[in-house]
Amino acid sequence: MEIQRFDIVIIGAGIHGAACARVATERGFSCLVLEQYSAAAQGTSSRSSKLIHGGLRYLETAQFNLVRECLKERARLLAEFPELVREVAFYIPIYDASKRRPWQIASGLSLYQILGGKGFQRVPREQWRALDGIRLDGLQAVFRYTDAGTDDAALTRAVLRKATGAGAVLQLQAEFLEAIREMDGYLLRYRAGGSTLECRARMLINASGPWVNQVLDRVLPVPARRELELVAGSHIVIPGTLQQGIYYLESPSDRRAVFAQPWQGNILMGTTERPYRGAPEAVAPTVEEIEYLLGIFNHYFRRGLAPGDVLSSFAGLRVLPAAPESPFTRTRETILQPDDPADPRLFTIYGGKLTSHHATAMKLLSRISPHFY
Ligand SMILES: Cc1cc2nc3c(=O)[nH]c(=O)nc-3n(C[C@H](O)[C@H](O)[C@H](O)COP(=O)(O)OP(=O)(O)OC[C@H]3O[C@@H](n4cnc5c(N)ncnc54)[C@H](O)[C@@H]3O)c2cc1C
Repeated sequence: MEIQRFDIVIIGAGIHGAACARVATERGFSCLVLEQYSAAAQGTSSRSSKLIHGGLRYLETAQFNLVRECLKERARLLAEFPELVREVAFYIPIYDASKRRPWQIASGLSLYQILGGKGFQRVPREQWRALDGIRLDGLQAVFRYTDAGTDDAALTRAVLRKATGAGAVLQLQAEFLEAIREMDGYLLRYRAGGSTLECRARMLINASGPWVNQVLDRVLPVPARRELELVAGSHIVIPGTLQQGIYYLESPSDRRAVFAQPWQGNILMGTTERPYRGAPEAVAPTVEEIEYLLGIFNHYFRRGLAPGDVLSSFAGLRVLPAAPESPFTRTRETILQPDDPADPRLFTIYGGKLTSHHATAMKLLSRISPHFY
């Protein structure tokens, strides 16, 4: 029997695999998406902070292009998925002990606005009592600006529906096993329904998130790759409500930015950053991370929540290029790595943002398309 041939085979049905499948099929390529689990968005794309944002804090590390691109993408997503991506008010309270002073926050928000953000205001003192019971002693200023939030897994499914609607084939419970380079692409093997199946791809996209280098270990000949570091980020869901929006809080112990946001009738707190060396599928929040996040919430909202009050928790993995600096200040730019720069037949997506998934897919397809003609 003739082996089925696709223009593009994508490994992974997270947000990047979904976006690449969508853009590829919209450009007329035949496309197969392989996903090892029984549903899409089971990896990082359901374990993010769920923000569709430029990333105000990336201004501190001068990642202006990333912020500009993400703000442009935020506007696009608000228009394309109005029922899934919604504007939210963000509040930044500044206390006597905060590292960032009011003038620094005002400058950052001004720059954010220049790069494509919406306007911001200083919340008048008489309105502070309406801010969900946030601690008032030592409070010097509160800034309000607008960004957006989403349900990351639902957004991934929506993008994937666009792809399958345009003709992409999605194969769930299909684990990619190996790929062997041929003259004009790759011969692939994957396991599905208890059998090992084969297909051919003129181009292979490795969109397997934290599994990227494990996938590359299964490709012959061994393709070019980046050294990466997996950095775990945890969230907790705690009881309560936040009526006004999302609070952008500074951790009193290490000055990192942490968000407290309304989430499915409760409160989502996150995130953390911890180097991770285990299997991607085994990542889970640690006791220390849960206590750290609870401590920040209790500090700002004067509650006495204990670990036993935590309703649920989850952890995801950032894929960052290996480098000596702290993960908090490391670049969040997406890297598109070809197997062979002279004649690429495989591209690996390292890192990236939920917010910029479409821009990443557009860039990747622009690099892929010339190799088809
Ligand atoms: C803690 C945290 C918070 C974040 N917060 C935000 C945020 O607020 N806003 C934002 O814009 N971005 C955020 N991000 C970044 C964003 O979530 C990720 O960039 C994005 O979800 C990565 O998607 P992906 O498709 O590359 O990977 P994934 O979603 O992990 O998808 C990879 C898929 O590949 C599949 N796969 C792996 N191996 C195989 C195989 N052998 N065969 C078949 N399938 C396979 C996996 O099962 C998985 O479904 C955050 C990231 C983290 C970790």
